[in-house]
Amino acid sequence: MSETIAFIGLGYMGGPMAANLVKAGFTVRGFDLAEPARQAAIGNGIILCDTAEHALAGAPVVITMLPAGHHVLSVWRDLVRTIDKGTLMIDCSTIDVDSARKVHELAGEAGCLSLDAPVSGGTTGAGAATLTFMVGGEADALARGQPLLEAMGRRVVHCGSAGAGQAAKICNNMILGITMAGVCEAFVLGEKLGLSHQALFDVASTSSGQCWSISTNCPVPGPVPTSPANRDYKPGFAAALMLKDMRLSQEAAKSTGTATALGAHATQLYDLFDQLGHGGEDFSSFIHYVRDQSV
Ligand code: NAD
Repeated sequence: MSETIAFIGLGYMGGPMAANLVKAGFTVRGFDLAEPARQAAIGNGIILCDTAEHALAGAPVVITMLPAGHHVLSVWRDLVRTIDKGTLMIDCSTIDVDSARKVHELAGEAGCLSLDAPVSGGTTGAGAATLTFMVGGEADALARGQPLLEAMGRRVVHCGSAGAGQAAKICNNMILGITMAGVCEAFVLGEKLGLSHQALFDVASTSSGQCWSISTNCPVPGPVPTSPANRDYKPGFAAALMLKDMRLSQEAAKSTGTATALGAHATQLYDLFDQLGHGGEDFSSFIHYVRDQSV
């Protein structure tokens, strides 16, 4: 009989991740509060349950994929009331490091193993099972979780103990937010200097300015045909999610006393951009903000 997994949070990311576990031969018992997510789950072969606790029945593993730290804390507090000792609990959401550490503690007190395993790769990676997992937790927990993570992704990186996966995710995404803002500024400066987008791309994508924000998610249409700029900035990675991750980086910077002047400034810029109503666009559409602010 195939291993049973409880999967809580079947949204844009969790839905396709759970569906990939079904495709890999696992039995998945799912729960989500939202009706559209519930209906999509049934279509993907997931056994739909009425509550998170009901999803846990007979499952030696539970995975959560929820919006923010307070959702994860609340669901894990409910789960540990009835969970069997020895259950492996994995949270794949992107949340603050403090909440991640607290949920590891809850699991430990209940006699369970736990991992924080946030992902990079977005909805495309979730659908194609090509996510990268950044994992925090003990080696024995990872040894048990590895086959499940590999059914949903292509790379699993063990970053350290409890919370280290979230720490890696937050640091990575702070780099991403800063580089995209810089790349957008450079392309607009290039426009003002009469440089073609292609010429700047050809140089910067093969020189010291090279980064994912240029070579994969180029903010202008043309040079990288698969980048969101070619489909009217449909995400991709929504600006509102970029802002969420930038804010997490700033919370972490504050609590650790780290000087992140560029991170702080980029967070303010994405905040303004979001307030202007662009939160649903790919974050590379920030280039419009740079053009609008230029004379
Ligand atoms: P989403 O809003 O589509 O999905 C979250 C789901 O959780 C929703 O369906 C919601 O109904 C459900 N939910 C909320 N509270 C619940 C509860 N108490 N019990 C059961 N279900 C509950 O969000 P998403 O895009 O799938 O993102 C999930 C997480 O993954 C977030 O932390 C996000 O930051 C992270 N992430 C998203 C992306 C992306 O591109 N969308 C990329 C990497 C990481």
